[in-house]
Amino acid sequence: MKKILTILLAGATLFLNAQERCGTTAITEKMMLENPEYANARSKVNQQTEKWIENNPNHSEKTIITIPVVVHVLYSNNNQNISDAQILSQIDVLNEDFRRTNVDAINTPSVWQSIAADSEIEFCMATTDPNGQPTDGIDRVQTTHGAFGMNSDVHSTSAGGADDWPNDDYLNIWVCNIETGLLGYATPPSNWTGDGDGLVIGYQYFGRIGTVQSPYNKGRTATHEIGHWLNLDHVWGGGWGSCGDDNVSDTPTQEQENYSCPGYPHNPNSCSTTNPDGDMFMNYMDYTNDACMNLFTNGQKTRMLAAINQYRPNMLNHDLCAGTVGVSETLNQKRELIKIVDVLGRTINQQPTNTPLLYLYDDGSVEKKIIVE
Ligand code: ZN
Ligand code: CA
Repeated sequence: MKKILTILLAGATLFLNAQERCGTTAITEKMMLENPEYANARSKVNQQTEKWIENNPNHSEKTIITIPVVVHVLYSNNNQNISDAQILSQIDVLNEDFRRTNVDAINTPSVWQSIAADSEIEFCMATTDPNGQPTDGIDRVQTTHGAFGMNSDVHSTSAGGADDWPNDDYLNIWVCNIETGLLGYATPPSNWTGDGDGLVIGYQYFGRIGTVQSPYNKGRTATHEIGHWLNLDHVWGGGWGSCGDDNVSDTPTQEQENYSCPGYPHNPNSCSTTNPDGDMFMNYMDYTNDACMNLFTNGQKTRMLAAINQYRPNMLNHDLCAGTVGVSETLNQKRELIKIVDVLGRTINQQPTNTPLLYLYDDGSVEKKIIVE
């Protein structure tokens, strides 16, 4: 009986919506089966998280955490080779959603406005690569690989994907032609971090301009998947018709995922509880349309901060974003140095330290630099 019910529900879902928003539950289960160390580490996460939250009651007084991002664009045609502007539009969405400066924050029902969180997490394109060289944080890789499924090909250059940048230091995001029916997936954190840690997202669902396709055209797939990457569960707690626990107390228990764009209140008093407000279907960790999502809660924020402090601590202090590379240098990467002169106009061949020097470039620009030793 149970089996038949499962099939019917899955069929109903496919009928309502051909897109599976998220493959995170599936990839996590697959990784746990394949890797006992990962399974063991994941099994301890909830307990470790509760303990961290108990021991760090003032977590919310922390300063803003900035997460450095590398985007690996895997493409086999021009359409899949999404523009820099499209990538940056995704970073904008993330900064708005995680700082609650999203314009649709006003759509959060008033009963939940007071628990809607500024998560105090920001994102930047990496400006320093793993070799310490300047970068724009975008890694473009042409490939002959067809659609990518949920296996290791995507994070392996030799298999037609792109190798990870160090998982402890960067949030790796692979944007690619993803298998039909899937928008994206992410790897939840634990004390075991392996190859392929990060997000994989279809090029039709990344950013909010360019190749994005309605109704997943406002960048909320990445918001949702980063929620998983920082240890958030789906608001219904996983499974079908589960009324499960997402380990967050301020998100109401709900029976299952929601699609499309329900009206408020939706499913009040479900799951044998008296909850007149119903499902928090506009939470980023539900499955509704991008245009209908607009909040993380304070409880989810706490869990994400615990995840960074416990499992992704390199995100707390780094200089991979602002570092040594200024904006002007990033913009002018293609210019060529003509010569270096000192303040008296004499050409310098060997650069002395602690002396101001002028760098003359072929595009007419001049920079004053001093190498401090
Ligand atoms: Zn998900
Ligand atoms: Ca909850």
